[in-house]
Amino acid sequence: MLKIEITDAIKELKKFKARRGFLQIPEGLKTKIDEIVEELETRGFEIITSMDLCFGACDLKQKEAKLLGCDAILHLGHTKFVEKTSVPTVYAPLKYELGERFEKICSILAEWMKDEKIKETGVVTTAQFLQYLPLLKEELSKYGIKITIGKGQRTENGQVLGCNYSSAMVKPNSIIYFGDGLFHPLGIHYATKKAVIIANPITLEIKTLEEEKEEFLKRRIMLIERAKQAKSYAILVSSKEGQNRITDELKIKKELESNRKNAKIYIMDFISNDALLGTKAEAFINTACPRISIDDFMQYKKPIINKNEIDYLLGKKDYENYELEVVY
Ligand code: SF4
Repeated sequence: MLKIEITDAIKELKKFKARRGFLQIPEGLKTKIDEIVEELETRGFEIITSMDLCFGACDLKQKEAKLLGCDAILHLGHTKFVEKTSVPTVYAPLKYELGERFEKICSILAEWMKDEKIKETGVVTTAQFLQYLPLLKEELSKYGIKITIGKGQRTENGQVLGCNYSSAMVKPNSIIYFGDGLFHPLGIHYATKKAVIIANPITLEIKTLEEEKEEFLKRRIMLIERAKQAKSYAILVSSKEGQNRITDELKIKKELESNRKNAKIYIMDFISNDALLGTKAEAFINTACPRISIDDFMQYKKPIINKNEIDYLLGKKDYENYELEVVY
């Protein structure tokens, strides 16, 4: 069950002496919006809620908060990502309560590791299961398995994001991904080259990435090769503060032009195929959230690749050593 705990966030807002708060909330929590606003109002805050899409902690609406005279931003569902903010920002991450599923997945995982003769490994997870990592470490140590929780850069220790796998850069050559879905495990593999063991605490399954990692690479190669045929490119920049890297974008433009390609830079808040219908560019280079080109590439009529994939497009790197775009 997913739970949002705002008691600590309220204490922090009070520390900032905030009176008017700017609330940002991810899509999955919007059905709870009225209850959350009412609770904050009864605690004495004046709340203005942003109903714009909010994909991650990189998406901070500081300009809007200032415009509306808000003293602080309350960012729900995510952990801190943007280092310096001009408006005090408080985070209230979403937490998953596993109940007895936690003990079950621990014993299933320990048995699996015993069969595979793995005695040492790293472990990572996403924000909603983060509170379970120390417990998992303790449980597995009872079975003689040594667990390393990696140090996060711009994330909590042991936490991974779709653009940040710093916590997975640990000494052991295998890593447990404690969570569900395949996006993060594939990201961990292509960012670290380590073997990934998925321990899913919801379905109670253990899985490794075999076919999936080959299929993922084939898809990336297909997109990059299609993008290579283009003569003109649109370099896509996000105006979201945590996703904007303008020096990289100018460098990419120069590099493409020096390879006799045409390149133009386009900025937008929400990157989408519709927003790009007017450009004649034959391929898109995404410099914002890397998940756009990985998860959503089917929604684009033209090939869309991540900015690090230009090295493969220009033949500077070969596919054998393919790496995923990361932001540390
Ligand atoms: S850039 Fe993408 S993956 Fe990274 S925090 Fe933002 S939404 Fe998440």
